[in-house]
Amino acid sequence: PPVLRLQGIERHYREGAGRLSVLSGADLSVSTGEIVALVAPSGAGKSTLLHIAGLLERPDKGDVLIDGNSVTAVTDADRTAIRRNKIGFVYQFHHLLPEFTALENVMMPQLIRGLPRKEAATRAEALLAYMRLAERKNHRPSELSGGEQQRVAIARAVANAPRLLLADEPTGNLDPTTAHYVFDALAALVRASGLAALIVTHNMDLAERMDRRITLSGGKVVEL
Ligand code: ADP
Ligand code: ADP
Repeated sequence: PPVLRLQGIERHYREGAGRLSVLSGADLSVSTGEIVALVAPSGAGKSTLLHIAGLLERPDKGDVLIDGNSVTAVTDADRTAIRRNKIGFVYQFHHLLPEFTALENVMMPQLIRGLPRKEAATRAEALLAYMRLAERKNHRPSELSGGEQQRVAIARAVANAPRLLLADEPTGNLDPTTAHYVFDALAALVRASGLAALIVTHNMDLAERMDRRITLSGGKVVEL
């Protein structure tokens, strides 16, 4: 089965006396090793879709399946566990902890999960090396460039070996050359690790380099 499957997702918000239908029958599958670009104008429902796929929000109707298992009838506690174990998030702004080094930031999700410090450090070092940041591991976020900060954030997002990577404009804050470099690092990691990735972007050059492009139109997912 695909890593992520959305089936007939509906999400409505109350709007005065009426309601605003943000998603109205959205269907989407993302498979292992696949990178899907989500390109749509502001207000189209991209964040809502990412939040539902990331189990941060429940749909009003429809089903979310992770690795073929429906998470609809699952308790909030179990959804949190699935999110921690199976889903990594990258945002436009890195949200790294400023008082910790790059290495410590990448270790953090593993320590929270209860892994021994030595094991967490070994994996964090491997991921930082993979992101070509071996020489930067003892730097704090403020001592890193924007592109380096985002590569640390990507390493942190995959530290717990998730199945699905969700990214909201991961290169939106970077100049075009750096954006391409960061995207290449992300794509290499996704493909090498057999992750599935759904990436919101406004950068059409980058979207063209992903495996598929989708948009949201009338609350439905449409292939571009
Ligand atoms: P995008 O990420 O594509 O800009 P969003 O998913 O953030 O779109 O929002 C889609 C629409 O839903 C927007 O019109 C927004 O104002 C509305 N919306 C989002 N979240 C809420 C909410 N919690 N309550 C009411 N309306 C919301
Ligand atoms: P370990 O030796 O602890 O198993 P690895 O060095 O094999 O760690 O990899 C650490 C993580 O880095 C992998 O689990 C994977 O998610 C990611 N990774 C993916 N491809 C590579 C690669 N070619 N080299 C190193 N790490 C990779």
